[in-house]
Amino acid sequence: MQLLKGMGNVGPPIQSFLESLYEAYRSLNAGQVASYIPELAKADASQFAISVVTLDGRVFQVGDCQQEFTIQSISKVFAYGMALEEWGRDRVLEKVGVEPTGDPFNSHIRLDETSHRPDNPMVNAGAIATTSLVKGSSPTERLNRLLAMFRRYVGRDVYVDISTFLSERATGHRNRAIAHLMLNFGMLNGDIEEALDLYFQQCALLVTCQDLATMAAALANRGQHPITGERVLRAEYVRDVLSVMYTCGMYNFAGEWAFRVGIPAKSGVSGGLIAVIPNQAGIAVFSPPLDENGNSVRGVKVFEALSQKYGFHMFDLSMGHCHFHDSLLSDSAEKLDQEQLL
Ligand code: GLN
Repeated sequence: MQLLKGMGNVGPPIQSFLESLYEAYRSLNAGQVASYIPELAKADASQFAISVVTLDGRVFQVGDCQQEFTIQSISKVFAYGMALEEWGRDRVLEKVGVEPTGDPFNSHIRLDETSHRPDNPMVNAGAIATTSLVKGSSPTERLNRLLAMFRRYVGRDVYVDISTFLSERATGHRNRAIAHLMLNFGMLNGDIEEALDLYFQQCALLVTCQDLATMAAALANRGQHPITGERVLRAEYVRDVLSVMYTCGMYNFAGEWAFRVGIPAKSGVSGGLIAVIPNQAGIAVFSPPLDENGNSVRGVKVFEALSQKYGFHMFDLSMGHCHFHDSLLSDSAEKLDQEQLL
């Protein structure tokens, strides 16, 4: 591909590279917008954004970066972090495993008499179990505590898109079936309709591409928000979250992703895709058309190109991990401050 030619010792300024990626892929019309949640089918397939947020709060971005969309499965990453903080690693591991499935995100086929817990927190079964762990004395309190956690990551107020929530709640028969199976096998306790509601609400949280990159940057920054400076996740649990992102975050494409891109990532069916370059930056892409694995088509392309160009694959030892960071340092960017987040 033209864009990737001429790999030198120092990468090009990141901003101009993002712009060239945007131009290169905006006309790529492959993939389908998700429609199994009717409200998602309304998405504009041409929307496209790429955001990079550094650990010191600089932002490089292009496209529809302020367009709001529902976070969907990317929320699973942050809910898992919350469960780890509230219950500790051992208790959470009793409830949800860390084994990649290689199955689609909404699969129920590995839930049976022989399994004691859902495989991992990035597939729907594991995510519903994880969200059911949110503490609180009522559904409202649990929702408020979950929203407060997301607010800390985003750095401003966030809201649930009620139309998408209701749309998924009315049509989420597969997730309901998964929850019933887990109830039957003793993997879930309590009121499963409440657990599903909270899971659907978490998936319907409205974010922008810039928000997602900021949230990823907080993980890259060992759990400290790059702009507010607030601790959003204890560093010991950042390790756990990034590990499951790395092995399970891209569903049945997780192995290919680890091989080709090589950094922890998570996708969602509304077309968001985040990735974390530890100690360097958070990156997000938004583009609604999805491939057969449920990952954003343009999103995967952008990350493959970025990884190849800047050598941020975690095991690309020949590249020394420095290109991306050097390129960020040499570039000028808008520096966000807290007021811009409000
Ligand atoms: N809310 C969606 C679901 O449960 C999330 C799936 C996804 O983003 N992959 O089906």
